[in-house]
Amino acid sequence: MKKIAFYGKGGIGKSTTAANVSAALAEQGQAVCQIGCDPKNDSTRLLLGSTCKQTVLDMVRKYGDDVTTSHVVHNGFQGVKCVEAGGPEPGVGCAGRGIIVALEKLKALQSIAEDHIILYDVLGDVVCGGFAVPIREGYATDIYIVSSGELMSLYAANNIAKGVARFAGRGQARLGGIIGNSRNIMHEQALLEEFAAKLNTRLVAFIPREQTVHQAEIRRQTVIEWKPDSPQAAVYRQLATLIMGNRELSIPTPLEFEDLEELVLRYGEE
Ligand code: ATP
Ligand code: MG
Repeated sequence: MKKIAFYGKGGIGKSTTAANVSAALAEQGQAVCQIGCDPKNDSTRLLLGSTCKQTVLDMVRKYGDDVTTSHVVHNGFQGVKCVEAGGPEPGVGCAGRGIIVALEKLKALQSIAEDHIILYDVLGDVVCGGFAVPIREGYATDIYIVSSGELMSLYAANNIAKGVARFAGRGQARLGGIIGNSRNIMHEQALLEEFAAKLNTRLVAFIPREQTVHQAEIRRQTVIEWKPDSPQAAVYRQLATLIMGNRELSIPTPLEFEDLEELVLRYGEE
């Protein structure tokens, strides 16, 4: 089954998009598991209706070798399996190392059945080696990068693409596409389309910036759950369907920073 990862700049919308895609897949009858690889533990909040209090690392610390699948895999919206890797207290220890330990534990426990679609929601870009783990260790094969048209978001996306290209030779990881998450900047969709093409991939979705997302978030729900008939829910469903059927996976061709600046400037001019 598909092993997907969402990467992207901090705060760009990875967890929100991942949770809505997981919800959409579950709604379609798919068995799906979302794994938050982020010490904030908030990846699965919209699916669980609360922040996960039992992360893999917490449970390993508490139960040691006696930790079981039921300690670490939680039941979310429409049966989505929800896991949070967890991490050290802020400012103490290496979060990337924590991700390695947590994913190894899940594997050893055989917590996720083979027929499940797994969606890894990974913090930040791949500057810290630890966060490249889902790509490097072959946990995820279909990589999606969430980005807006803002320069620093594209910069992070380009760095992540470098990481994917670096590990592509050794393993199965390929770039499935760019998921545009709008920040309402000028000509944003066209800019993201050209950026994706230059990276040897394509823009697989352009998600509007919508109040519905905020309104669902404060209710601890996905848009799929809170407003199932909204246009925004339809956008997430369409993305879920595309990801499942995507055969156009590529080895990315990252840009030079100067070329990225030129691209953003060109679209930013009136
Ligand atoms: P982090 O790197 O901190 O884990 P993230 O990339 O997972 O962040 P989210 O937590 O998903 O980002 O989103 C950040 C904020 O942006 C949230 O408050 C979320 O509700 C909001 N948001 C995300 N996508 C949209 C959208 N399409 N429209 C409106 N608000 C959005
Ligand atoms: Mg997040």
